[in-house]
Amino acid sequence: MKIGFIGLGNMGAPMAANLAKAGHEVTGFDMAPVEVAGVTRAASAAEAARGADVVVTMLPNGQILRAVAAEVIPAMTAGAALVDCSTVDVDSARAVAADAEAAGLLAVDAPVSGGIGGAAAGTLTFMAGGSEAAFDKAKPLFDIMGQKAVHCGDAGAGQAAKICNNMILGVTMIATCEAFALADKLGLDRQKMFDVVSTSSGYSWTMNAYCPAPGVGPQSPADNGYKPGFAAELMLKDLRLSQQAAGSADADTPMGQLAEALYAQFVENEDGKGMDFSAMLPRFEKRGRS
Ligand code: NAD
Repeated sequence: MKIGFIGLGNMGAPMAANLAKAGHEVTGFDMAPVEVAGVTRAASAAEAARGADVVVTMLPNGQILRAVAAEVIPAMTAGAALVDCSTVDVDSARAVAADAEAAGLLAVDAPVSGGIGGAAAGTLTFMAGGSEAAFDKAKPLFDIMGQKAVHCGDAGAGQAAKICNNMILGVTMIATCEAFALADKLGLDRQKMFDVVSTSSGYSWTMNAYCPAPGVGPQSPADNGYKPGFAAELMLKDLRLSQQAAGSADADTPMGQLAEALYAQFVENEDGKGMDFSAMLPRFEKRGRS
């Protein structure tokens, strides 16, 4: 297939490289002067999109996605697919899909889980929203860039799944970190805490696979000075998207709201910027009850 790839950042670059490695003809564009193995550089987003069977976007936010889509959609050929893998607000995902469909294109919102490691290894999970035909067209590419693709429903359903997942992740990480901080103050050994919780009803992905305590559990950013991994700023972005969506859908999400406030405090007023989102543990360690 002829593929246009727009947004060759931490995630986009390895995803585009994997598509090229699998034998697809990939033309890429990014605002920054990035070179990606096997990917031909275009001078603009429109140039990368022209004549492509599929255009993949991997961009920072919904506003940028809308601007790029406005440039790319008129350059695309009817019947081609626009596949957005960025994490953006549900409203932007639906607006871009509607514009693409009005121009005779197929559209999929397909945010990912799995981080930079998953992007490099081709083991991402895609959660997709859009028509059956659009999903079917994008599926062979999901199979190269990832290990699993779930068709969640119509336009916006992929983004809805992503922000619900990450709202659980943010809340669970906070719960795991505050429990470790409490256990420390009660004199409980961290390894014993892990051994019990990871095999008891408090177990979770944040405890079992991404333990925020250094030297305990599998290797995680905590063992690397809390270098991201998944940055606290990105967690804050996703929690904000979840609360924006909860506001427009009139959903009661008090734990998500609290998690957003805590990550905002951590990133904007404390030392969370540039740290992994699991650095909530040293944050709690430093604090007392009041
Ligand atoms: P990034 O900042 O490394 O990459 C974004 C790229 O988009 C940059 O290279 C930037 O130059 C480019 N860009 C910005 N505006 C542009 C424009 N108008 N035209 C062309 N290129 C433009 O971010 P990332 O970590 O690759 O994340 C990309 C998306 O994936 C985000 O929506 C993020 O929330 C999501 N995501 C990231 C992770 C992760 O672990 N990093 C995991 C899952 C999802």
